[in-house]
Amino acid sequence: MIISMKKGATPEEIDHVRKLIEEMGYRVHESRGEERMIFGAIGDERTKHRLASLEAQPGVEKVIPILAPYKLASRETKNESTVIDLGGGVKVGNRKLLVIAGPCAVESLDQIMEVAAAIKESGAHMLRGGAFKPRTSPYAFQGLMNDGLYLLSKAKEAYQLPVITEVMDAASIEIVSEHADCLQVGARNIQNFPLLKEVGKTRKPVLLKRGMSTTIEEFLMSAEYVLSSGNSQVILCERGIRTFETATRNTLDLSAVPVLKEKTHLPVIVDPSHGTGHARYVEPMAYAAVAAGADGIMIEVHARPEEALCDGPQSLHPSEFKAVMEGIRRIAQAVGREV
Ligand code: PEP
Ligand code: MN
Repeated sequence: MIISMKKGATPEEIDHVRKLIEEMGYRVHESRGEERMIFGAIGDERTKHRLASLEAQPGVEKVIPILAPYKLASRETKNESTVIDLGGGVKVGNRKLLVIAGPCAVESLDQIMEVAAAIKESGAHMLRGGAFKPRTSPYAFQGLMNDGLYLLSKAKEAYQLPVITEVMDAASIEIVSEHADCLQVGARNIQNFPLLKEVGKTRKPVLLKRGMSTTIEEFLMSAEYVLSSGNSQVILCERGIRTFETATRNTLDLSAVPVLKEKTHLPVIVDPSHGTGHARYVEPMAYAAVAAGADGIMIEVHARPEEALCDGPQSLHPSEFKAVMEGIRRIAQAVGREV
């Protein structure tokens, strides 16, 4: 339920209503808009008729049921788009697009430094690089793990770029958080509910990648796990879903962008690299993502894609990335955004 306070409600009236909601056994989620205070009451739906009685309290404007099962993620609860601060002045969710770039995996100090220098030069805002890699085959390169985190933070320091890297299990959240500015939960872990609850206990921004077979509602319920564990900084990433089509690695569901933007206040970005699996399709799909209203994009870049230990075929060479950045600037301008 949403309890919307009147425009001129006094601080005493607001405090009193907050206390009453808590006394009824609900957890209070506050959203202070420019004009009024809005409470979300999170808890047992069976006793929600008691919340309806709050309409009689001084200062209360309306008590409105929330229809979506993802209560905290829903625009019904918070109409204003969420802006997330990723450090170093980099934000996502506002008019300025977020561009994240970097290799699939951190491979060596030289590799990550070279790519960090190149993407910074082209105007990317954040560096990506996996240290813990969720590979389909146990025989494939699994990432440099803690050493990879260390190398990533060296590149962060050298090029003043906030960094994002994947966290695969609860046990490594602490170490990953020491190095990363944003925790990535990969497609394969999107319904790992214990992991979602644990990243929800941190105060780091979390990027959730849509699973290859998660519906939009399931995706938003995963976000709800993080939000309801206390972390309000969640970014959603469309990265393609599995369909009957095999010409591309996944089917990039770009309609997810306007659908998500309608249903949730959380920022939505697109990963055309995993979404297509082929470097030559990354550029058109990155442009399409921006045109569709994405708040940012994430692109894999490698100085020598043919030598990459992971996802080489979908990785852009720095010169190709530079061209994509220029194109993104033009598309962004056309749709009233900036890079
Ligand atoms: C990645 O970003 O490197 C990755 C493994 O992506 P996904 O979880 O979307 O497959
Ligand atoms: Mn990858």
